[in-house]
Amino acid sequence: MPHAPPATLESAIAHARKIALIDSTLSVLNWDERTGMPTDGIEHRAEQMQFLTGMVHQMRTQPWYGEALQEAEASDLAKDPSSEVGCNVRKLLRDYRRDVRLPQALVEALSYATTIGQQQWQQARAANDYKPFQPSLDRIWQLKREAADTIADGRSRYDALMDEYEEGATTATLAPLFQSLGDSLQQLIGELLESQSPPSGGVLERFYDVADQSSFCRAMCQTLGFDFQRGRLDVTSHPFCTSLGPNDIRILTRYDDHHFSMGFFGALHEAGHGLYEQGLPTAAFGLPAGTAVSLGVHESQSRLWENIIGRSQGFWNYAFPLAQKQFPAALSDVSQDTFYRAINRVERSLIRVEADEVTYNLHILIRFELEQALIDQQLSTSDLPGAWNDAYQRYLGVRPSNDREGVLQDIHWSAGLIGYFPTYTLGNLIAAQLWEAAQIAVDDLHEDVARGRFEGLLRWLRTHIHQYGRRYQPHELVERATGRPLDSTPLLHGLQRKYRRVYGLDPPGS
Ligand SMILES: [Zn+2]
Repeated sequence: MPHAPPATLESAIAHARKIALIDSTLSVLNWDERTGMPTDGIEHRAEQMQFLTGMVHQMRTQPWYGEALQEAEASDLAKDPSSEVGCNVRKLLRDYRRDVRLPQALVEALSYATTIGQQQWQQARAANDYKPFQPSLDRIWQLKREAADTIADGRSRYDALMDEYEEGATTATLAPLFQSLGDSLQQLIGELLESQSPPSGGVLERFYDVADQSSFCRAMCQTLGFDFQRGRLDVTSHPFCTSLGPNDIRILTRYDDHHFSMGFFGALHEAGHGLYEQGLPTAAFGLPAGTAVSLGVHESQSRLWENIIGRSQGFWNYAFPLAQKQFPAALSDVSQDTFYRAINRVERSLIRVEADEVTYNLHILIRFELEQALIDQQLSTSDLPGAWNDAYQRYLGVRPSNDREGVLQDIHWSAGLIGYFPTYTLGNLIAAQLWEAAQIAVDDLHEDVARGRFEGLLRWLRTHIHQYGRRYQPHELVERATGRPLDSTPLLHGLQRKYRRVYGLDPPGS
């Protein structure tokens, strides 16, 4: 760059906005890759992504940019870290200080390896064979170790990586929280599975026309508040949500004509992410004040709409008659109670994304444990399938019989997303605590949900979470919204209360 702009705050912010333009262009390329790109397009796409990622890295690490941010941080402008400008300056500087440590070649190598890695993962999963994928996965773990060592600054590798997704989270605080949650859940699962009247999931495996599922999902996402003028719902093989611009939020699910829950709860989950993205301040798009605070908080939004609302008795008071109208052949002879119990069946199962609310967190504890062993090389990628299967046996009492049911089920590691899984359980914990607070704060919340009115809840989330972007640390934001630090009681008590009733261990209404 021959002429560096003057190192002022304005030019730094303008520069950060340009970075956001390229970043969101990368999101378009990624969205396309995961929705309709022909398989053979991958090599060129990987080059495009590597080139743009490298360009972004160069822009993020310009010395004048760092100086401008440093100067602004020392001035009165950024005194209040929770003001818009204070948040932008401090978080951009935080990101800058991390980025300047990462060598350009490493950033580009990671981009290339993970773009190719995701496609190889897909092929390995289709072929149900981990072996040919292992060298490429091993390379990704090696690159992530290098990256972690570069940015660790006295922290463990795992904490350094996790901090990318959840600022301030450490293994030291999460491990005991997760451990005690896991123990209590094991006990609850044991009680439920001994019940004499477990629900049956049979009605969900009847024929549900895919086009009907798609219109039903669309209607429900719209009712929750997802704005289709500013977003779209599409089909993919691994559901996700991505922001292509401040007014262009894409959510994606997948359908199977004999699997109602997969498409529907996938759509609700991604709509929850989409509602958060649509609730961020649009004028600050791409700047910290207009960006989601963390993946844990992001996940709390998806879990709240998917599980706490979408799997509740109240929601189906409203939605079940509509579902019967949309799927008369599948549901006309089914009672609302049978349907409600079916969508809340608990099972020791192998696949994380299909797991119920109660066993779900055990799937995360397994990955949390394996990731820590892998990043510190106590476990090698060649021993991974066996270690995976052993962990499933220990935590869930089930053993995968092949790689697809086991180690090949998740896309994350092939995409370089390491230290990401714990944010799913954090999301569940935060969702339950937010819901507890919302029930006190929002008048007539339960009646509204049963009538299909969600404005009150959405407004509360907009006010207490969405509007703040990255102005507070994730744990501060949760504490401000709920009046107390994060703990596992709301989630655990909520699950115990709900599922003991579903399984007939407690009388309804107790
Ligand atoms: Zn999610």
